[in-house]
Amino acid sequence: MGRETAQTGSAGQDAAAQTVLVVEDFEDTRYLMRLELEKRGYRVIEAVDGAEGVAKALAERPDIILMDIGLPVLDGIAATRELRQREEMRETLIVALTAHHETEYRANALSAGCDAYLTKPVDFDWLIDLLSRLLP
Ligand code: CA
Repeated sequence: MGRETAQTGSAGQDAAAQTVLVVEDFEDTRYLMRLELEKRGYRVIEAVDGAEGVAKALAERPDIILMDIGLPVLDGIAATRELRQREEMRETLIVALTAHHETEYRANALSAGCDAYLTKPVDFDWLIDLLSRLLP
């Protein structure tokens, strides 16, 4: 996978108990996210479509959700809207993942209730930096 950048200081051991829900339909991306996040001490759970994302978010109560926008069954925008209607999901951090060309989705993602968005392919140094700032 090429990237072997040693990451020191940003996530650290304090991130050990923090759970990240990765909602992503593309298996390779899910695998890479799990690998990179677990390497930094995060606990990772996965969902392969928007409906499973909503179900796992409600069942597992992750600290943060990385929500792909282009998803089967229920897209990331609809899944975020659905989560934000739930009292217990109002405060959960949700970061939208959009491809470079999907600029039109970013405003939608934020208005649907996402706290931030990341452009794919994901720059993991940037992601870890974002997580360490959102989850102090
Ligand atoms: Ca996708």
